Amino acid sequence: MKGLLLLLGCALGAFAETKLLKNATVIDGTGSAAKPGTSILVVDGHITQIGHNLKAPKDAEVIDLTGKFVIPGLIASHGHLGNTKGFIQDPKNFTRENAEAQLKNYASYGITTMVSMGSDQSPVWAIRTEQRAGRPSMARVITAGRGFTGKNGYPTSAMGMKGVPYEIETVEQAQKAVDEQAALKVDLIKIWMDDHLGKEKKISPELAKAIIAQAHKHGLKVAAHIFYREDARALMEGGLDMIVHSVRDKPVDDSFIALMKKTGARQGAATLAREISMFYYAEPRPFLDDPFFTRGVGGPNGEIVTRMKSAAYQQGQKIDPDHKLYPDFLETAKKNLKKLYDAGVPVGMGSDSGPPVRFPGYFEHWEMELMQEAGLKPAQIIVCATRNNAQSYGWDKQIGTLEKGKWADLVVLGKDPSADVKNMRAIEMTMVAGNVAYKAR
Ligand SMILES: [Zn+2]
Repeated sequence: MKGLLLLLGCALGAFAETKLLKNATVIDGTGSAAKPGTSILVVDGHITQIGHNLKAPKDAEVIDLTGKFVIPGLIASHGHLGNTKGFIQDPKNFTRENAEAQLKNYASYGITTMVSMGSDQSPVWAIRTEQRAGRPSMARVITAGRGFTGKNGYPTSAMGMKGVPYEIETVEQAQKAVDEQAALKVDLIKIWMDDHLGKEKKISPELAKAIIAQAHKHGLKVAAHIFYREDARALMEGGLDMIVHSVRDKPVDDSFIALMKKTGARQGAATLAREISMFYYAEPRPFLDDPFFTRGVGGPNGEIVTRMKSAAYQQGQKIDPDHKLYPDFLETAKKNLKKLYDAGVPVGMGSDSGPPVRFPGYFEHWEMELMQEAGLKPAQIIVCATRNNAQSYGWDKQIGTLEKGKWADLVVLGKDPSADVKNMRAIEMTMVAGNVAYKAR
């Protein structure tokens, strides 16, 4: 009889997994003010209720969050999954094991979704399919599959990147390659349009526009790596959906802003952390001893920290003749970000993490600090990193805010992130789809 009841109970769904996150200060990602004394009911990974005085259903696991802050899981709008191990970037590194270890590491930094921008290898498809069929316990991946550049175009000269993006020479090739990616059900299309300060070939605007047009035929959004303002302008005139770096050569001007507003193009990511990393490692820096950094890179005595602390490594950073130009690019990027934000252009959060010495998770926190230095307020940055990023990729019905019906992708913090984005480092727990993906010890 007891067995029968149990069976019946299962069939009726009486054994749903229920968690009540009780009495937190909730910052829901919509831009509304923080709500103290708020509880969140999570059933089978989804938020079913959010509000005051929620009663714990029978059999619910109750997690008391008195004194804690809860934000939506952070979304990293520009990363590169799986190809890097230590200091080496190579597509051969892209195993399921390496990619999933990185997705768990992202989750340990409060990142519950990352967008991988055009350098993925075949294991990504199975990882993504499984994640979307179930309830992952690691960061979700949104994939641009294999990205696009011109013949011998940037970034094919970067370590491990030859053969990674398509190198497009004709409109027909562009259309065929986009069709291939669409057949794989890629989440978006990525284009690199850059000559690496005159050192490399750049895809022509005509070919880039052909890629955009073909992607749009398939209903796919297109994100672009750009450096120069006029390249970004040409792409947006061709219908580009978002730029995923800042314009770094010139200030964005009124006509540029007007074009973004007219076309709806977004600043999907500003990648300020990438810009600072181009010169910052040339000096001894305190972050190399910061446990928040070292915990994600093999510890304080691991290969990465040991090598980056060495004088030889630091000297090596100055060898690039363009090294001295990067502080100005960072300043331009920061000013442009603030100007676009103030003009009402939708801004996301992304750091270009994943390639060597661009550390997944840590980089996103660095990015948010640099956004704060650029003049954005912590409450604004939270929205950029959550709701805005979800909107950029068409995921805003599932994630990005803490609202009824959405996945319980969230971060529990011990400090108030609206006082200072650095408080987002006080991560006590990360949940993805209601699963504990990380818990601080
Ligand atoms: Zn990138």
